Amino acid sequence: MSRAWIGLGGNLDEPATRLRRTLARLDQLPDTRVIRHSALYGSRPVGPADQPDFINAAAELETELTPLTLLDELQRLENEAGRVRTRHWGERTLDLDILLFDDRVVHETRLRIPHPELEHRGFVLVPLAEIAPALCLPDGRRVDHLRAACDATAVWYHGPAEAEGESH
Ligand code: AMP
Repeated sequence: MSRAWIGLGGNLDEPATRLRRTLARLDQLPDTRVIRHSALYGSRPVGPADQPDFINAAAELETELTPLTLLDELQRLENEAGRVRTRHWGERTLDLDILLFDDRVVHETRLRIPHPELEHRGFVLVPLAEIAPALCLPDGRRVDHLRAACDATAVWYHGPAEAEGESH
């Protein structure tokens, strides 16, 4: 049994509702369950500025899948969400990243773990630090220390992930 930490994001087609639904879908993946997840956070887009703000979250999974089969499942969920890639760092309906997987280091064409952007991105580190502040990267650095050192000025609390209705 492994632990995997997933980053979720999206900025099209009611992203908060989609992320809530995606958290439920993650719990239904084969041989996988969601141990905990963060609240929802809003973030200003990195890259092209003429696109809607993002909603982001993080989830901790317990899984018997391998990193690559987990990636396959996450990409299937992205495709089910009708994900359309328009431009680099542009808008998307659903983005699912494997941030960390146990203390493994993976360097494959399709998969890099730890996720290369993890340590630079406030919209990844803020939700991850909410659920796993003492978690360490394979090189020993702590998530809460990385979060304190990153620029999180463009990240804000949006609301709980459990909410039934949408206020926005
Ligand atoms: P993006 O949509 O910009 O996040 O990039 C998606 C691509 O990144 C996919 O083709 C994946 O194969 C690749 N990729 C590399 N490492 C990871 C990772 N840790 N999690 C998710 N996708 C990854």
